[in-house]
Amino acid sequence: MRGRMIHGRRPDGELYEAAQDYDVHGRTIFAVDRAGLNKRLLDILEEMPNVKFFFNHKLTGADFKRRKAWFEFRDQASTSDRPAEIEIDFDFMIGADGAHSAVRYHLMKFTRMNYNQEYIDTLWCEFQIKPNNASNGEAAGSRFRISPNHLHIWPGKDGSFTCTLFMPGSGFAILEADPSLLPNFFDSFFPGVTSLIPPEDLISSFQANPHLPLISIKCHPYHFSSSVVIIGDAAHAMVPFYGQGMNAGLEDVRVLFSIMDKHAKGEVNDPAPRRALALEEYSAIRAADAHAINDLALQNYVEMRASVLSPLYRVRKFLEEFLSFWKRKILRDSGKEPAPGQGLNAGALSSTRQPAFAWDFGHYLGAPTLNWNSKPFRSP
Ligand SMILES: Cc1cc2nc3c(=O)[nH]c(=O)nc-3n(C[C@H](O)[C@H](O)[C@H](O)COP(=O)(O)OP(=O)(O)OC[C@H]3O[C@@H](n4cnc5c(N)ncnc54)[C@H](O)[C@@H]3O)c2cc1C
Repeated sequence: MRGRMIHGRRPDGELYEAAQDYDVHGRTIFAVDRAGLNKRLLDILEEMPNVKFFFNHKLTGADFKRRKAWFEFRDQASTSDRPAEIEIDFDFMIGADGAHSAVRYHLMKFTRMNYNQEYIDTLWCEFQIKPNNASNGEAAGSRFRISPNHLHIWPGKDGSFTCTLFMPGSGFAILEADPSLLPNFFDSFFPGVTSLIPPEDLISSFQANPHLPLISIKCHPYHFSSSVVIIGDAAHAMVPFYGQGMNAGLEDVRVLFSIMDKHAKGEVNDPAPRRALALEEYSAIRAADAHAINDLALQNYVEMRASVLSPLYRVRKFLEEFLSFWKRKILRDSGKEPAPGQGLNAGALSSTRQPAFAWDFGHYLGAPTLNWNSKPFRSP
């Protein structure tokens, strides 16, 4: 995915698309299909002899000193309304149970965790752009109704796109009160959408799909003793505007296991004290990076929401790209070009050059023309 696509309408009424590349050197973001990735990971795990799956088990309590945990088990075949409760003993628990993590909640009772949670005033809701009905013999690409190489949305294999509307809660409240306003709303703020998604589909998706909040969570430490650690959104849920949430979770796994490998061997036979040291080290080094990506995601929200069309933003982007281009040329001419993979922009922003996962990320519908506060939508 090489950049973002801005959609709009000119004063004469004509629709336009304007691509903004992410990188002046042509580097791209790599995107994968989320459902496909989940399936592939499950398949790989299933082949491992030391892995067992327990679906429909919900953690309800944990004692990280006694190493006991309690789960509710929903047996699909059971006629009872009440789920069965089970108790298990464990050595080590990795809590990867998402933004509203039960593991984190119980961990807080065992460690002095600093915790910060922030909701932004934006909800999100998904819509679908169906694929073109390509007739036999047409190129596969023709099934995509808009460019598949830009971050308005991520195309499905069948040529469909999943799009997400991001909008302040007050805007959702108006449309929830009268969903028939939706087609007019899209024509006003996101010109062109109603030619891709029929008005009746916009209304039915808006009514059927949930309107979900966006949360940003920072906490520290991530572990207690040798018995538990939290990773992924459980440790650092972030707003999705940098497309880095899952990336950061996968990076947690890489960092955690590299540290655990480092502490795997020692003079003492008991693995628990070595694991305690590893978890201590993990919490110490991982928090700064996780907090930085949370902040960058929030900043990118501001950029994507409003700045991409502002003249000041475009001048800044031009200058950044101009400087980056000439800096690279000067370094290259002087034989000091950075090694492959070594970004030109040092510091925190270098993380933006990593491959990222991006899907369902409907910036098309969350397009910068939306300014709910300054230009309130009125019914036709
Ligand atoms: C609109 C949107 C767009 C996004 N786009 C991107 C993107 O483009 N790129 C990207 O990298 N990230 C993106 N993200 C972020 C990404 O979805 C998350 O960072 C990622 O899913 C976190 O993975 P996780 O495994 O930590 O948590 P989750 O995916 O939330 O998984 C948690 C799991 O734990 C289970 N669970 C919860 N509670 C319990 C319990 N009590 N007991 C047992 N199990 C439990 C849940 O059922 C679930 O299976 C986006 C997020 C949103 C909301």
